[in-house]
Amino acid sequence: MKNAEAVTFGGSGLERAAHLRGDAEALKALRADPNAQAIVFWRGKPLIRRGDWDALARLPMSHALLVPRAEQSVFLGIEDHGPTFAHDLSDWEPDNVDPSAMNTFLDPTEQQHPDLPETDVFAELRANMTRLTPRDAELAVSARALYSWHDSHQFCSKCGAKSVMSMAGWQRDCTTCDGKHFPRTDPVVIMLITHGNSVLMGRSPGWPEGMYSLLAGFVEPGETLEAAVRREVFEESGIKVGHVDYLASQPWPFPNSLMFGCRGEALNTDITIDPVEIEDAIWVTREDMMLSFAGENTKILSARKGAIAHFILERWLSDRLD
Ligand SMILES: [Zn+2]
Repeated sequence: MKNAEAVTFGGSGLERAAHLRGDAEALKALRADPNAQAIVFWRGKPLIRRGDWDALARLPMSHALLVPRAEQSVFLGIEDHGPTFAHDLSDWEPDNVDPSAMNTFLDPTEQQHPDLPETDVFAELRANMTRLTPRDAELAVSARALYSWHDSHQFCSKCGAKSVMSMAGWQRDCTTCDGKHFPRTDPVVIMLITHGNSVLMGRSPGWPEGMYSLLAGFVEPGETLEAAVRREVFEESGIKVGHVDYLASQPWPFPNSLMFGCRGEALNTDITIDPVEIEDAIWVTREDMMLSFAGENTKILSARKGAIAHFILERWLSDRLD
């Protein structure tokens, strides 16, 4: 697909300078660089600076909150201003956190750290993703994916001993068996399945009322993307898929996915859902999807802006898939 990288989180050409990650002396100098900046996370939520145009908040590495954690900072790369790191402040306990709100479909709560300006709040990335520049978006998804991985991979998968962060955040090492562990990315296919003028849409249990999106599922070991598309669609909806094309990809660190947007042609139209996987699946005509995108279809809420499903559907509606 032309301009596929225009998708949210589609990248910004960040110079990741991976060769410096294992160089202790170089990292020390980068962390001490007066131009070094840090983006900050708290329990998976980036620190967003509210203003006329929201942005990731960037703190100097010399900020009092960050200095004690400097050794644990993740090196993200080198930008025009200098090096950029990520810091995790998840051990901060705010006074009034509502755990039930944080576990909702899209956590609407924001947290304001008393040692940071009032304009800076920890906020759900998916609720803010369309307002970030491509650079901020790339930094945010990279750091979030790494922190999700560190959080769920504290122990060596070979021997079970505690592992430690190394390579400036891009690796974990086992101190007992010397095992090396690398950040996981889980491939997911998400597919625009069409039949004539209609597209196949599904919804999962627990989604907001009326919300439908493209079918999606994890790629299994030993599968191609094409095979995963055909298997997932048939399992979830009973629809057989013929030709499959790859369209675009999107890092989706909730917690560690890489979405592969594909399209496929349906060979039949009778839907039989798998109620364990999805709650409903329907064919939606192009005209009805147009109304959804215009906010004028009360029955079907379109996929969220910023998600690759929305991106692909929008291109389909405007005949720009190629
Ligand atoms: Zn081990």
